[in-house]
Amino acid sequence: MRKKLIVANWKMYKTPEQAAHFVSAFLPLVQDHNRDETVLCPPFVCLPAVVAAVHGSHIRVGAQNMYWEKEGAYTGEISAHMLRAVGCSHVILGHSERRQYFGETDDAVNRKLKSALASGLKPIVCVGEVLAEREAGLTEQIIRQQCSVCFLDISGAEAAPMVVAYEPVWAIGTGKTATPEMAEDAHRIIRAEAAKAFGDERAQALRILYGGSVKPENANALMSKTEIDGALVGGASLDPKSFAAIVMRGS
Ligand code: PEP
Repeated sequence: MRKKLIVANWKMYKTPEQAAHFVSAFLPLVQDHNRDETVLCPPFVCLPAVVAAVHGSHIRVGAQNMYWEKEGAYTGEISAHMLRAVGCSHVILGHSERRQYFGETDDAVNRKLKSALASGLKPIVCVGEVLAEREAGLTEQIIRQQCSVCFLDISGAEAAPMVVAYEPVWAIGTGKTATPEMAEDAHRIIRAEAAKAFGDERAQALRILYGGSVKPENANALMSKTEIDGALVGGASLDPKSFAAIVMRGS
């Protein structure tokens, strides 16, 4: 059984003060919950405030991006080593907004993934097709291509802490959700690519999350599927009650 993982991606929202307020409202709503793992990914500047606010709880903290070098003349960048130093356990890599607005490639995601794993961070690697690719029947090809490059030259043992998030780009922030069946199909393709790269045993243990307009109303239907090992939640994770309803779904 793969333990489900629910990740909040706050994108470029919230100041440190607002982030701390979120945590104080959120924690009492999920305090009896230990069925799943829960991770909050605030903007970089909020990380220390969120790490302090969740201290002593079962909630973990992640970043939304990182650079692959440990340190150096890379103005504006933050390394895996620095994220570990402020108390992060996770990092989102290759989010479609990074790919779309900041030109991030599969090759860059692969370098970041290796660096995150080497530093002891648990990477959440995002893959997924845009609408035109789905409509052209290219979904499987795109997902296979993204996975094969992102997973290059990483051993099964090294990949153990990695999580993958399937995020169809047409479903992110649009209110359109992939049906549970569409998500399951994509997850099977990702698992098959993981088996090629890391071997069957590691692929079976790999957690694959779904992301794209997950809300309290659809979270249970999606996550009751055995192929869907959790959710990466954007918009609905900004409000403590709505994110708590996703974490607590069905209970
Ligand atoms: C995301 O940011 O990864 C995401 C899936 O956003 P939303 O839930 O708003 O679609």
